[in-house]
Amino acid sequence: VIIKNARIASSKGILEANLFVEDGKVVALKKTISGSGEKTIDATGLFLLPGLIDAHVHFRDPGAEWKEDFFTGTRAALAGGVTVVFDMPNTAPSVDSQKILNEKKKIISAQAACNYALYFGASEANQNEAKQISGACGLKIYMGSTTGSLLVKDAVALEKHFQLFPKEKIIAVHGEDEETIKKYAEKYRAGEKPEHNKVRPPVAVETAARKAIELAKEYGKKLHVCHLSTEAEMNLVKEAKKEGVPVSCEATPHHLFLSEEDAKRLENFGKMNPPLRSRKDVAALWENMDAIDLIATDHAPHTREEKEKDYWSAPSGVPGVETMLPLLLNAVNERRISLEQVVEKTCENPAKLFGLKGKGFVAEDFDADFVLVDLKKTKKIAAENLFTKCGWSPFEGMRLRGSVERVFMRGEEVFDGENVFAKPGSGSDLFS
Ligand SMILES: [Zn+2]
Repeated sequence: VIIKNARIASSKGILEANLFVEDGKVVALKKTISGSGEKTIDATGLFLLPGLIDAHVHFRDPGAEWKEDFFTGTRAALAGGVTVVFDMPNTAPSVDSQKILNEKKKIISAQAACNYALYFGASEANQNEAKQISGACGLKIYMGSTTGSLLVKDAVALEKHFQLFPKEKIIAVHGEDEETIKKYAEKYRAGEKPEHNKVRPPVAVETAARKAIELAKEYGKKLHVCHLSTEAEMNLVKEAKKEGVPVSCEATPHHLFLSEEDAKRLENFGKMNPPLRSRKDVAALWENMDAIDLIATDHAPHTREEKEKDYWSAPSGVPGVETMLPLLLNAVNERRISLEQVVEKTCENPAKLFGLKGKGFVAEDFDADFVLVDLKKTKKIAAENLFTKCGWSPFEGMRLRGSVERVFMRGEEVFDGENVFAKPGSGSDLFS
């Protein structure tokens, strides 16, 4: 396959070239076309990006397949230009042993339509098993309770994880401090419809981030702070980076594009952990975009019925894997972020941070996983066009300039702007 007249985006800039693909790999990037491939695709007017790597999704499989399953989740990913997903361990049963990790792999490998990696989950007692886990992209520690039962609230148990986990691998934390969350939940319990940002306040993430950074510093371990949501948390990560602590961080589209103002309108459809924050917190994330390593979705679907329950009963989490790229492209058009930064934070940095071979870049010998986008085309986010099983989006109705036109995996077209062609089982485990 030859993709001609492509404008290839990387963190270094835009390269105009013709892309030659053979056996699923990029074999050359050339200014001229010599010879002819079996198939030529004209990319005139479009930008070509590496397939996105979403380092934070919850595809609910196994255990809650009515919300999403690995096939519907990976199809939604492909429709959003995402060709690699990192699935979190709070499925059911929790992925907290080698045996359960292996069983989960067996279940999802037959369903995956895009490439994937799985996280291992920390419990209060599995530090020794975590230390020698094989086939996981990293360790996920829930410092505060959210969907599922994984939780490490005991300080000694938490420290032991940091002490024992291999230093070349990533420890990702859901940084909300359990004690703080409990205290505030108690305080607001009587209220029928409290604000989620008050029930799980900014101080909870600040407290947890401080603890996690302290431990990463003490034991020299690679810490990844998931879903940054507040200015104070952002500042803690920045300071730690300045001090040379091996810390990275991510921000989600919902924390970048929505605020607590939207939460009022969205009600439980805008309820996730950590919550949507103040405009000031949102602005702080944008102002510090240089210090944000990854943008990842925390795609966490629940059904409409589940979300329509009262505040205290409705689960936390929103879908996002297929709306991330259009939202970011629209922000490129609004000059809030550059296309180079989008590629850096959604393709290159995740590949580098987790050591994914052949991913994250459009270059010779790399896998031919890429996305063609139209920066001028406007599309409206509409539930009926989404592939996620939950069938709704907190971004519903937004008109976004910038659309995902075609997606390729190993040189084969898997999405044409309307249909996903990838078959269940066609994705690979990147940590097999
Ligand atoms: Zn999550």
